[in-house]
Amino acid sequence: MNNDLFSLNGKVALVTGANTGIGQGIAVALSQAGADVVAVGRTTPSETAAAVQASGRRFHFIHADLSSIKPIESVWTEAQSVMGSVDVLINNAGTIRRSAVVDFSESDWDLVMDTNLKSVFFMCQAFAKRAINSNRPGKIINIASMLSFQGGIRVASYTSSKSGVAGLTKLLANELAPHGINVNAIAPGYIETNNTEALRNDPKRQQEILGRIPTGRWGTPSDLGGAAVFLASRASDYVQGTVLPVDGGWLAR
Ligand code: NAP
Repeated sequence: MNNDLFSLNGKVALVTGANTGIGQGIAVALSQAGADVVAVGRTTPSETAAAVQASGRRFHFIHADLSSIKPIESVWTEAQSVMGSVDVLINNAGTIRRSAVVDFSESDWDLVMDTNLKSVFFMCQAFAKRAINSNRPGKIINIASMLSFQGGIRVASYTSSKSGVAGLTKLLANELAPHGINVNAIAPGYIETNNTEALRNDPKRQQEILGRIPTGRWGTPSDLGGAAVFLASRASDYVQGTVLPVDGGWLAR
């Protein structure tokens, strides 16, 4: 038995949206802890592939657009045929649309809910079915948000989806814990990625946000790596249904 509580040697992690931002930061951190990585998304993750392979781990990319649940079964069939089995699922792919409540369109509602919540549920279902059928333990980590706790502004579908992710994580933990599957979420604070570019380009919002982060800086994708390795490893075997903020103290303010 491996004595390192945080080692992921011999594990396979499937990470959605791993070509950039938080997904990339998490995929690289998991590989540095020993995991092979399956990346799932719509953009070829060349940089991530190079970083994972530089850690001496296997890497495989599966092309899929997760704004619909249609590709999910084939994603899992391919992942299994290439890697044998998957031990860790990171539901990271997500999108955001900004508009005032009174102008919010149905398409901006549906796109965000379908990508950030519906696909997350069906990815978890596909993972759980396989883990239960083969009697293997597993770890699911969903990416939540500060807007799993707070209301936000101009992001009606995003807040609804991420509040949904927090509730769904708890429901999944209740049902899947008896099968040896841990289900938790990470709630990133304000992280420098494409997702927050509009906020960082707005001098007023940028200052408002920075001014209430106790750590005094925006987060970077690599700031999420430690929490992901913890929740993917046996160090977290008795952690279930939690939404772990990694936010530089934002929620403590
Ligand atoms: P990002 O750089 O925009 O990354 C989003 C990722 O999701 C990209 O890989 C993107 O692929 C993928 N994606 C989006 N729609 C997809 C679709 N339909 N099918 C497949 N992949 C899709 O933003 P990020 O900040 O790293 O976001 C990652 C996660 O963290 C999201 O769930 C986001 O809501 C969450 N989050 C971010 C922050 C923050 O401050 N940045 C805070 C809280 C939570 P493409 O590159 O092809 O678009």
